[in-house]
Amino acid sequence: MKIGCPKEIKPQEFRIGMTPAAAREAVNAGHDVFIEAGGGLGAGFSDDDYTAAGATMLATPEEIFATADMIVKVKEPQPGERKMLREGQLLFTYLHLAPDPAQTKDLIDSGCTAIAYETVTDNNGGLPLLAPMSEVAGRLAPQVGSYTLQKANGGRGVLMGGVPGVAPAKVLVIGGGVVGTHAAKIAAGMGADVTVLDRSLTRLKYLDDVFGGTFKNQYSTAEATAELAADADMIIGAVLIPGAAAPKLISREQLKSLKPGAVLVDVAIDQGGCFETSKATTHQDPIYEVDGVMHYCVANMPGAVARTSTIALGNATMPFMLALANKGWKQACKDNAHLLNGLNVHAGKLTYAAVGEALGMDH
Ligand code: NAD
Repeated sequence: MKIGCPKEIKPQEFRIGMTPAAAREAVNAGHDVFIEAGGGLGAGFSDDDYTAAGATMLATPEEIFATADMIVKVKEPQPGERKMLREGQLLFTYLHLAPDPAQTKDLIDSGCTAIAYETVTDNNGGLPLLAPMSEVAGRLAPQVGSYTLQKANGGRGVLMGGVPGVAPAKVLVIGGGVVGTHAAKIAAGMGADVTVLDRSLTRLKYLDDVFGGTFKNQYSTAEATAELAADADMIIGAVLIPGAAAPKLISREQLKSLKPGAVLVDVAIDQGGCFETSKATTHQDPIYEVDGVMHYCVANMPGAVARTSTIALGNATMPFMLALANKGWKQACKDNAHLLNGLNVHAGKLTYAAVGEALGMDH
């Protein structure tokens, strides 16, 4: 199969859909890989890295889209890219169609077959192609939060690990799923005193069994949240209610009860945020202050560490990408119901029920 990977064109997107390692695996399996020249630079991969892996560099996205049987990307195709998709072409990338009727219509009109990373599932009920980005965002949260805690950045001037004779920072993580667990691990690794809140007793049992000696956990109620928040130097918002906007767990009124210079890192901002005062920010201007409390609310946190994120995403997508290339999408989806769950659009039809329901379209 001819596999094409264009440079990402969404603003501030530095990741790329295929690493040189993924390109080499595909070439070794007998496929032809075409990468857009310069496409890997944002993630620290040169054109030479790709050609050494056996890929062919093409100068323009037009050439990539015209050549490839399968397009592998990171972000949903932008309007110009959608015009280049053609009937029978396979698209494998993040799509997030539910809030995006314009993209959905263009994909349907193109006649392409589109498999969305975010709806591919696994045996444990998880989303294996979303999880790596949650891992990245979770591990990044205490890192950006600790920088924000520094005095010059508006924070309380508290060191995460303290020093001998001085207590460490208190970190509250709300939501103990993928983001929350990775955030808590890193915050505890920096020496902070960490508590995780969750509403799932199953999850709390898991956290207790695996991390009982590393960080504390508690059942998430409004009372527990208020009490722990008032005592925290940093609060990391990591809740998710699938298919719903994030619940607001700290109100504007409550900010008065927090320590001046406390830091809120709202990772759940891509679902609307779990603090009432959260509004999405960018890597260029990530931090703002409300009532003396610092807020960090970047909606695409993994973009800050594009190299790590590209490799993590590539590791997760590679087996699926190879199955699609080796068997063709029909056989690959027949053999793997989890990959079939990724199928969102095929031959002019929407094939994913939740998207159809969200957009009120036939499916
Ligand atoms: P997850 O499903 O693995 O975990 C969410 C957890 O929240 C679950 O354990 C759930 O029980 C818990 N929860 C739900 N309601 C709660 C409540 N009221 N109190 C306490 N816990 C509650 O999800 P995840 O992968 O960890 O993602 C968390 C959020 O981070 C999502 O909104 C996701 O979209 C977002 N995210 C953002 C970025 C970014 O760049 N900003 C990157 C990745 C993920």
